[in-house]
Amino acid sequence: MHDMKFITSMILISLAIAIPGAIQKAATPTYRVVLDPGHGGISSSKLSVHGDRYDQISERYLAPFAEGAAHRGLWEHILVYQIAEKTRKILQLCSPAGDFRKFRTLLARYTDEDPDRIYIETFMSRGDSSDREKISHRADPNSEFRLYDYPDGKGNILPGRISRINAVKPHLVVCLHMTWDYSATYRGMNPVIVPPHSVLYDGLLYIQKKKSGRDFFEKGLYSHWFMESDRRSVFKWFLNDSVFYFLGYPLTRHGAVDHKKFRGYRYNMVHWAYRDGPGWEKTARLHPENGPYAKTISGFVPGGKFWEREKSVYEAYRRDKGEEGYGGDNMYATSELIRYILHSLELSGQDHPHQRLTEPYISTWSVPLLVNAVTAFIELGSLANTRHRYLFQHKQDEIAEGLAVGIYSLLSGLKLKKNTYHWKPRGRKIDFERYLLPDGTSYFDAVVK
Ligand SMILES: [Zn+2]
Repeated sequence: MHDMKFITSMILISLAIAIPGAIQKAATPTYRVVLDPGHGGISSSKLSVHGDRYDQISERYLAPFAEGAAHRGLWEHILVYQIAEKTRKILQLCSPAGDFRKFRTLLARYTDEDPDRIYIETFMSRGDSSDREKISHRADPNSEFRLYDYPDGKGNILPGRISRINAVKPHLVVCLHMTWDYSATYRGMNPVIVPPHSVLYDGLLYIQKKKSGRDFFEKGLYSHWFMESDRRSVFKWFLNDSVFYFLGYPLTRHGAVDHKKFRGYRYNMVHWAYRDGPGWEKTARLHPENGPYAKTISGFVPGGKFWEREKSVYEAYRRDKGEEGYGGDNMYATSELIRYILHSLELSGQDHPHQRLTEPYISTWSVPLLVNAVTAFIELGSLANTRHRYLFQHKQDEIAEGLAVGIYSLLSGLKLKKNTYHWKPRGRKIDFERYLLPDGTSYFDAVVK
């Protein structure tokens, strides 16, 4: 069982208060963290072997596997794995058997206070992907790297990366990525976030002609939409994302539902508590109107456990408002980890205008959408940028230290030293107590049954 130790400790503390004179030693708070280095595996147009997004309705893969960015001999999947592995090694010091004194020594560069002992159990979402040759000879080269569940060829559906993340019921997931290149506006480290349900629902109502005018979007906090290309306006990309999120189909450039590009009911493509019940694919195959599997915008009506979850207060905590003013705890966790990375680089004398926290990418990304954990999704920079290439190759230890200290700070809080550095983390811990369910278990435990 993975009962959260911090609940136990809260119960013990309240017992100690309730029973005068009772001296209770509270259990050490325990948190589970998954480090998720992006990609790995092999991309190929041969979908039947190399695909991802296995659709149980059509019994085929709907999209190619994304192997990640590469530029002039540098591979995103190798670099992010190396950084994640270094981060994991530092976080081992916080495991129950870890050398926490050593971690305290490391923290002494960041804080003057004596940091609290907490337990951090760290998991990796995948293994090493650097030996491409070896991976390419596997019967199913992408099996370890796919995001979504996939068939083993013997009639079983095996858990993909998202299902394996959810299986450990993490409190925090940290996704690490790099891009190939991007515009000057985005140059730096970027948060990657999923908008709240309410914003996407407004997009659906607009396109269903139940809402008029664009003020709701333009005056809202989420109008910095990820521009997939400048072939469409930001507003049209927003409507595309809304329809894609609800119906599973994108829009054509002319605003019609693109029935040739079905990308699946993603919430039914992973193992978790919010899948539709057994046999759902028999109904979904017929795409009946006035329900969640409709093919038309006018006929779409949300229903089922996933859509109930999407409207929940816990998803609003993860994705809306919060410490940064928008984007909820996900945006705070991501921005805070970036500030810690930048701070760690500054502490080691590394400073540069291209090292900065900058614009977020906002869309319905798979990992932050399909986990209950607070999700920090970081684009660490661009492989085509000289400065970033230097950091990714030669400053991995500093980046990993920033991540490890930042993760500790998000879980336990950290009062930072007074300093004159440019990038100052806030040091505030995430309010995990508000994710407790009325029955005393937590939203993080509820992700799988
Ligand atoms: Zn990536």
